[in-house]
Amino acid sequence: MIDLHTHSLFSDGTDSPEALALAAQEAGLAALALTDHDTLEGLDRFLAMQPRVDTRLVPGIELSCTFLGRPLHVLGLFVDHRNPDLVREVVRLRRLRLERNRAMVGQLQAAGVPITWEEVVALAPTDQVSRTHFAAALVRRGAAGSPQDAFKRYIGDGSPCFVPFPYLAPGTAAGWIRAAGGVAAVAHPGRSFPRTFHWDQAMADLRDQGLQGLEAYYPDYGPLEQATFVRLARSLDMVPCGGSDYHGAHKPGVALGVGSGGLEVPDQALEQLLARRG
Ligand code: AMP
Ligand code: MN
Ligand code: MN
Ligand code: MN
Repeated sequence: MIDLHTHSLFSDGTDSPEALALAAQEAGLAALALTDHDTLEGLDRFLAMQPRVDTRLVPGIELSCTFLGRPLHVLGLFVDHRNPDLVREVVRLRRLRLERNRAMVGQLQAAGVPITWEEVVALAPTDQVSRTHFAAALVRRGAAGSPQDAFKRYIGDGSPCFVPFPYLAPGTAAGWIRAAGGVAAVAHPGRSFPRTFHWDQAMADLRDQGLQGLEAYYPDYGPLEQATFVRLARSLDMVPCGGSDYHGAHKPGVALGVGSGGLEVPDQALEQLLARRG
């Protein structure tokens, strides 16, 4: 069993990189990728665990992009997390994220929710603040009944106070990833777009822009959706890959390594991705 999509407290998960590596060992995973949102900060500590676990620890990142006017996430796997060009771009993204987050506080205040930037920051363990921390702050304020409610009413994609990221094209993200020795994959396409979306041409375009993996195994998918994405990946000569998108306590019920219907991500995805690194 492998898991190529997880988050630590360096973005919006709740586990340390060390705890994740140990949990992967405990779960008997052959490989585990740490793919925090728009940051490489946790990877030194994650990779330092390699001598202590049998699980192969894969350095990764999940980059926030926009595709056809909607947020789309791009996974970078096996990246050299010290590659100067990649590090520079990711530092720039962190600045853009900060500006966007401040704008989102403004939107919430304008909508009559008396939330402050300090309140949100206080709920993030590092300086990487995401909507997960906004949701927690809104619940704490009593402005939402649950994180899910906060996303629905205020900050989910397309909701009134959501401020999107500045446009980053998936092809641009894939270019950085490949130049840093990694392989780029489309993260959870079935979650980012409506279930009725026709992917065939759009996915072929993403492949042509350098995205070589397609996250076909993902906990939110139904068995039919999973089978459809596996088939689509094969027909486009992309690697069907996947992971749990584990966020620790921020996503209760999501365990390492397990996809929809309890199905596992096939081990061979690892070698297939490795073979296509930049
Ligand atoms: P950000 O990177 O700041 O835009 O935050 C995105 C993160 O918020 C995602 O990675 C998820 O962890 C979380 N998220 C986004 N939409 C939802 C939703 N509808 N329900 C729960 N969590 C969500
Ligand atoms: Mn997240
Ligand atoms: Mn994502
Ligand atoms: Mn993720």
